[in-house]
Parts: sequence; structure tokens; C-alpha cells
Amino acid sequence: MIRVAVNGALGRMGRLVAERIQEEEDLELVAAFDVLEGEVCGVRVSNPSEAKDVLYTSAVDVIVDFSVPEASRKMTKIASEKRIAMVIGTTGFSEEDLREIKRCSENIPIVLSPNFALGVNVFWHLIEELEKYLESWDKAVLEIHHKHKKDAPSGTAKKILEIAGISEAHSLRIGDIVGDHIVIYAGEGERIEIVHRAQSRMAFVSGALKALRWIVAKPPGLYDMRDVLGL
Ligand code: NAD
Repeated sequence: MIRVAVNGALGRMGRLVAERIQEEEDLELVAAFDVLEGEVCGVRVSNPSEAKDVLYTSAVDVIVDFSVPEASRKMTKIASEKRIAMVIGTTGFSEEDLREIKRCSENIPIVLSPNFALGVNVFWHLIEELEKYLESWDKAVLEIHHKHKKDAPSGTAKKILEIAGISEAHSLRIGDIVGDHIVIYAGEGERIEIVHRAQSRMAFVSGALKALRWIVAKPPGLYDMRDVLGL
């Protein structure tokens, strides 16, 4: 049985992950954290300030984090002290946050990915392939998300920018869109458009579960979904 804690447990993603964990025979939700008070799947949600005590009393194998960058960074530090694996889905980290997460990964195994969906990870791979042939074409990235999303551009778009060597993405925040990413390669008299649309957050939840089952058996280090999926 893999014992899991969820940070950001009352958020859109955290709640779905907690619910899905409770449906799986090999997973058990043993702790939940959020700044909001409440309960998720029969587990009391603790304030993150209590995390050290809670993680001391309940044995946890892995913490899944879908919160905000500051909270995620703090939780990773605690996990590193307690030698608990982490799966981090939060986006919007600063360079300093990322350096801190990297330092923590010297003590514990961490999967860090701005997008756990299988399709998006293949999408990134496709862009790498396009780059081999069309590096010199004009390129543009458009990402569209729901109006509550805090960071822009999305972590997924930032990764596209990195792969394609583009300096900025166009971001739209409207309605309840789960997440669209559109990449355009424009040449002379022709263009290629590749589009990924996340229709349901379950695409991310399934990937997060895959990552948590994978990471518990790994030595300390910083991993991404490419490692998990063997891409
Ligand atoms: P959300 O705002 O619905 O949920 C965030 C939760 O974190 C809230 O319940 C909030 O109360 C809680 N929180 C705030 N401060 C906290 C703290 N100090 N300690 C613990 N919890 C705290 O957001 P969401 O849509 O669930 O997304 C969460 C994060 O995950 C965002 O950064 C988002 O971009 C990212 N995300 C990643 C993926 C992926 O596949 N990697 C997919 C979707 C969303």
C-alpha cells in the first residue's frame, strides 16, 4: 500500500487527486493539507503549519502537491527533511524556487512537471521533432486557460518556449477552459499548427497517479514525466 498526502487538497486538482487515490486499491490517502479548512474523502485537511507534526505521526510515502509555488517549496523542504518522495504539479516557480527544489532532490526522489497529461508530454516531444526540420521558420505559441489560473504563461507553454527557442507566448484567461496549447510553425506559403486541448483535469490526475507509483521506488533525484513515461 502506498500512503499518500496531498498538499493543496481543497483545490481543483488536489481534490480530484485525493478522490482518485481513495478509489485505488494500492493507494491510501493518509493526510491532506490546505490553508482552507475542511475534509476530503473522510480525511481532515490540516493547515500546512502543522505539516511537520502530521507527517511525523502518520507514515507517508509520497506527497502530491498541487498548490501555489511558496507552499510547494515549503512542503518540499519538509519532505526532504523527513525523507518523503514528492510529486510536484504546481507551476509558476521562480528560478530560486527551482534551485531549492533541486537541492532537496539530493535527499529525496522528486517528480516535477508542469503537465502530467500523457498527450502533452508527447506534444512536447513532437515539437522537438519539428525543431529538427523547421527551426528557422516563424513560430508562435498561444495558450488558453480558465480565468482562475494564477500564472501566465502556463508552465506547459514555458516548456514549449524552451524547446522551440521562442521568447514569449500569448496567453488568454477566459471561462472554464481546462487548458489549450496551440503552436504554429509558419514557412513560406505553408504552415503547421499543432494543438493540444485538455478537456478534463482527469488527464492530469491519471498522470499524477502514474508519477506517484513510479517515484516511490526511485533513488533521490529530480525527475520529470519523460522519465516516468519512458519517452
Ligand atoms: P486551485 O487554486 O484550485 O488550488 C490550489 C489550492 O492550494 C487551493 O485549495 C489553495 O487554498 C491551496 N493553497 C494556497 N496556499 C496554500 C498553502 N500555503 N499551503 C497549502 N495549500 C495552499 O488551483 P489548481 O487549479 O488546483 O492548480 C494548482 C496548481 O497546479 C497550479 O499551479 C496549476 O497551474 C497547477 N496545475 C498543474 C497541472 C499539471 O499537470 N502539472 C495540472 C493542472 C494544474
